[in-house]
Amino acid sequence: MKITKLTTWSVPPRWLFLKVETDAGISGWGEPVIEGRAATVETAVHEFADILVGRDPRRIEDIWQTLYRGGFYRGGPILMSAIAGIDQALWDIKGKALGVPVHELLGGAVRDRMRMYCWIGGDRPDEIGHHAREVVAQGFSAFKMNGTAEMAIVDSHAKIDAAIARVGGARAAVGRDIGIAIDFHGRVHRPMAKVLLRELEPFHPLFVEEPVLPEHLPCLAQIAGDLGYPIATGERLHTRFEFRDLLKAGMVDIVQPDISHCGGITEARKIAILAEAHDVALAPHSPLGPLTLAASLQLDFVSHNAFIQEQSMGIHYNQGNDVLDYLVDPAPLTITNGYIPLLDRPGLGVEIDEDKVRAAARQGHRWRNPLWRHEDGSVAEW
Ligand SMILES: [Mg+2]
Repeated sequence: MKITKLTTWSVPPRWLFLKVETDAGISGWGEPVIEGRAATVETAVHEFADILVGRDPRRIEDIWQTLYRGGFYRGGPILMSAIAGIDQALWDIKGKALGVPVHELLGGAVRDRMRMYCWIGGDRPDEIGHHAREVVAQGFSAFKMNGTAEMAIVDSHAKIDAAIARVGGARAAVGRDIGIAIDFHGRVHRPMAKVLLRELEPFHPLFVEEPVLPEHLPCLAQIAGDLGYPIATGERLHTRFEFRDLLKAGMVDIVQPDISHCGGITEARKIAILAEAHDVALAPHSPLGPLTLAASLQLDFVSHNAFIQEQSMGIHYNQGNDVLDYLVDPAPLTITNGYIPLLDRPGLGVEIDEDKVRAAARQGHRWRNPLWRHEDGSVAEW
C-alpha cells in the first residue's frame, strides 16, 4: 500500500481536516490544527507531503520518526500539530485496512465506556449555577468552567472574590458529588495564582487546569505543592520530552496532552504511558472537532490512567458547525448519560461526510482568539 495524495479543508468553526489517500482505495482522516493558526499548520502538512507520497502508510512509527527527526528542526505547536493530523490519518488507514478499531491495534480496550465532561459558561454566579444544573440534568457527572477573566500579574482581591463567587455558585447548584474542573487558562500569574488556588480549596475542585502558563511551570511545586486537589496541565506541551520534565519534577497530577497538537496517537500514547509510570492521570485536551475527539477516545480506551475526556459539543463557537455535524452517522460520538461507549468501527471509528466538508470549506474560516488588554492598556493573556 502506498500514500497517493493529501488533501486539506479548512472548515468552520475553526478546524482543519486532512484526508490521506492510498493506492488501495482506503483513505484516512485526521485533524492537523492549532486554534487560530489553521493555515500555518496546513502549509506544514503540505510540506510534509513531499516525504509521505509513495510511502507505505502502515509504517506509522517510522513515518512519525521521519517527520519528527527528518527536518532537523522539530517540536513546537505548528510542526507537532501537522504531524498529529497525519499520524491520526495513518492510524485510521491501518485500522480500516485490518478491519479493526485503533484501540485493538494498541492492545485492546481496558474499559467499556469513557466518562465525558463538558464546558459551562456564564459570568454571574446565578448564570453559572443555571448552566451547571442543565448539564447535570443531561447526565454529565463533571463539567469545566473558566476560573476568571483577565487578571493582572498582581491584581485586586476583588477578582479573587469574583472567581470564588462563580465557583461557589456552581458548587451550590450541583452539590458535592459533581466534578467541577476550573480552567485558569494561563491567565493567572504566580502572585495571584498562589492566592486563587488556595481560596478554591473549600470547593473541592475536580482539578484546576493551567494554573500558570507552561513557561512558568517550575513554580508549581511551590504554589500548588500541598493543595488538597489535583493540578492539571499539558494542552500547550507538544512532545513526550516536555511531559517527561514536568512529570519528573512531580508538579502535576493530571496530564492533558492534545492529540491534535502533540504528534498524534503515536506520541500521545507514549505520553500516557510516561504519566502512568508516575501515577499521574490522563485527561486528553479536546476542544476541537470529531476526528480529534475520536482519536482521543481511542487513546482513552487503552490507557488505564485515563479518567475523563473533554469535548466541545455545544460550546459557543461551534454554533452551526458542531462536532457531530460533519459525521455521516453521529452515533459513535453521541454522549449518553455522560459517557461514550467503546468505539467499535474500523480505524478512528467515525466516518466523515466529505460532501459536507467540501461545502463547508467553501465558507472556510479565519478563526482567531480574542486579544485582551488590561485596564492600563497592556496585553493580557486570553
Ligand atoms: Mg485549557
